[in-house]
Amino acid sequence: MFLNAQPNKAGSLNIGLMGGTFDPIHMGHLVTAEEARQQFDLNYVVFVPAGTPPHKDEKTVSLPEHRYLMTSLAVMSNPSFFVSRLEIDAVGPTYTIDTVRHFAFGDDSGPELFFITGADAILEIFTWKDYEKLLHLATFIAVSRPGYSLDHFYETLDRTAPNMRHKVHLLEIPALAVSSTFIRERVTLSKTIKYLTPEPVEQYIRKHGLYRTGI
Ligand code: NAP
Repeated sequence: MFLNAQPNKAGSLNIGLMGGTFDPIHMGHLVTAEEARQQFDLNYVVFVPAGTPPHKDEKTVSLPEHRYLMTSLAVMSNPSFFVSRLEIDAVGPTYTIDTVRHFAFGDDSGPELFFITGADAILEIFTWKDYEKLLHLATFIAVSRPGYSLDHFYETLDRTAPNMRHKVHLLEIPALAVSSTFIRERVTLSKTIKYLTPEPVEQYIRKHGLYRTGI
């Protein structure tokens, strides 16, 4: 996938894995990925739309192919952003440990990995499959919305994953005032979503009649 992979300024290969359901992807996700790319000196950010998230089912989430295509449309103009089909093509539930192992290339000389996702999701990391190995294999970037309580975040993290603060960075993104839920609700109410998500995504949602009846 990364035919032109070049080390960054520090001479290392740092890859961001942007995990999420992306139902749909929106400007907040894109601003997040770009901010993480710059702050953590990432060579690439690979968006990894979840297949069937372990804690959700197909009745509450749009089809994986729709979410994959919307994500691809959203990132097409950024040369540092890619989309992976890894979880989309997986049969059955997918787990972050398997995704991280895939991108680690199976040895210690592989790239340094940064897993980027919502702070609330990361606070539940102790319920994820093989979470201790996961914290060993990747650094986590926990993204929060404006007004999110830092005290609550670190208290919960210290309780659930003691001594792991150095592996989890909190990143507040003002543009994350937008959420996928907000966009879905607006579509259901026939309200405009212009400028909340890239125009091709907006067109895709309209063309395929997504979210019209609510999910
Ligand atoms: P979610 O419950 O749908 O989202 C939780 C919160 O985080 C929402 O407010 C969401 O906002 C936000 N969020 C999600 N992804 C984000 C991102 N990349 N950047 C910024 N904010 C984000 O969480 P999810 O999408 O199902 O899960 C997040 C990731 O954790 C996925 O990659 C999933 O596979 C992984 N996960 C793994 C396990 C496991 O391995 N056992 C268990 C749970 C989750 P929006 O709705 O606006 O995105």
